[in-house]
Parts: sequence; C-alpha cells; structure tokens
Amino acid sequence: MQPEHSHDHSHCLAAALAAAESLCASRGARLTAIRRRVLELVWSGHKAVKAYDILEELAHESASAKPPTVYRALDFLLEQGLIHRIESLNAFVGCPSPRSGHATQFLICDDCHTVIEMACEGLEEDIAHEADQHGFAVARQMVEVHGRCQRCAAQAGQAGD
Ligand SMILES: [Zn+2]
Ligand SMILES: [Zn+2]
Ligand SMILES: [Zn+2]
Repeated sequence: MQPEHSHDHSHCLAAALAAAESLCASRGARLTAIRRRVLELVWSGHKAVKAYDILEELAHESASAKPPTVYRALDFLLEQGLIHRIESLNAFVGCPSPRSGHATQFLICDDCHTVIEMACEGLEEDIAHEADQHGFAVARQMVEVHGRCQRCAAQAGQAGD
C-alpha cells in the first residue's frame, strides 16, 4: 500500500478498525473503547505517532485516560500486531495488514515521518541465514530504512534543495 498525498484516509482508518475488530473477535481479545481510541489515534495518518502525542490528545478527551492506561493500550495493540513500534523514532504506526508473525521492514521519511511498511520475506530469510552462519539466534528483526518519501523529495526538488 502506497500512502498518497491525496488519498481518502477515512477509508484507511475504517479498514484498520474493521480489521482490528474482526481480529480481536477471532482471538477472544477485547478491543475496549480506550484501546480502539488509541488505535484510531495511531491511525490518524501514515506518520509515526509518539505515545506523548496520544497522551496529549486523550488528555483533552477523557480524564480517565491516564498514562498507564494508554501505555497498556499500546502494549495490547502491539501484542495483537495491530500496530508496530518504530524503534529509531520511538513511535508507533498502524499495521496495514495485521496478522501474526509477518516480516516487516520500514521505509521512514526523515522529513515528515511517514512510514511505509514492506514485507520482504526473502530479506528476513537472508538475515536469518546469515545470522545462522555466526551461530547467532535471532529473537527479533528490526529493519528501519531512513530517507525521504516521494512527496517530500518532490517538494525538496521544487524548493531547489
Ligand atoms: Zn491513509
Ligand atoms: Zn505489519
Ligand atoms: Zn516525507
């Protein structure tokens, strides 16, 4: 999925919430109101969102949205694979194809923090294979590629940067 400048993001949001609901229902996990709202905030766009921003947003909405509640909601969403943590930004992004155990690599725009999720299964296998050569047991893989997205690159080009 390619996040575009002029797409109707309400479709992305609706699809993400529908996927979350059916996934949680199939697993017997409870998508409570706060978990749903936090997911909605992470999905407010295709940019990585910091926990701090979610807390700040929720503080306006509900007195019960205390930090521990919000962090627990984020943990739940991570556990269910509905969101991913972008380690290099210490921020979160919604998963466009939530299912357990999929290979993920991220293209991260340093200008606007848009994150594009890729699923290069071959790359994951290559890393596992190389690690094996070193007798290294892989626990988790984080591939975060930094650069500039198409939109920002175009803007930079216009500005003569
Ligand atoms: Zn969108
Ligand atoms: Zn994903
Ligand atoms: Zn960008």
